[in-house]
Amino acid sequence: MLRYTVYPFRLPEWPYGYDALSPYLNAETVYFHYDKHFRAYINNLNALLKPYPALHGKTLENLLSAPQDLPGEAKVDILFQAGGVYNHDVYFNHLAPPDHILHKPTGLLYELLRNKFGSFTKFKEKFVESAKKIKGSGWTVLVFTANGEPLILNLANQDTVVPFDYTLVFLMDVWEHSYYLQYQNVKEDYFKNFWEVLVFDSYVFNP
Ligand code: MN
Repeated sequence: MLRYTVYPFRLPEWPYGYDALSPYLNAETVYFHYDKHFRAYINNLNALLKPYPALHGKTLENLLSAPQDLPGEAKVDILFQAGGVYNHDVYFNHLAPPDHILHKPTGLLYELLRNKFGSFTKFKEKFVESAKKIKGSGWTVLVFTANGEPLILNLANQDTVVPFDYTLVFLMDVWEHSYYLQYQNVKEDYFKNFWEVLVFDSYVFNP
């Protein structure tokens, strides 16, 4: 995955046809989001890092977890673009054609979500409730805390969970660019259909 690589970062090829997630995410939406927006974060990050050879061996996690090591004049921009690359890398790695996937978590992840939220359906409701609270642009995220508890979080703009002691399970892009071409102002339909193309990792918690 991109987040384990270093400068110059490269956009991996989208592994499916651009229409492979339709009707839940149509071809135009996936093409613009992946090939234009995601690519732009990568290109912008590379341009920002170019003048700083000391940063060229750093992964996205290295950059995002140690802001104090970034050059002051470029810090805010590097954190934003690196966060954008990191979040989109995770997002797109958790999307797959609807006939290839299970549409629900299994095993330990399923049990932990059921224990915390009552049922998988209730977990999804809480997740969407959280997403609806985002003002402007951001992400809704499922993480596990250090003691293995599932937690739903909102992140603003291109903030990431990297600086925290959390394990990221998956996230949903709540920027308008992720749904507007297809859903326009009806983002609730995007929130509802997102689950049809989401891949749940089989999550293993090591206490
Ligand atoms: Mn996006």
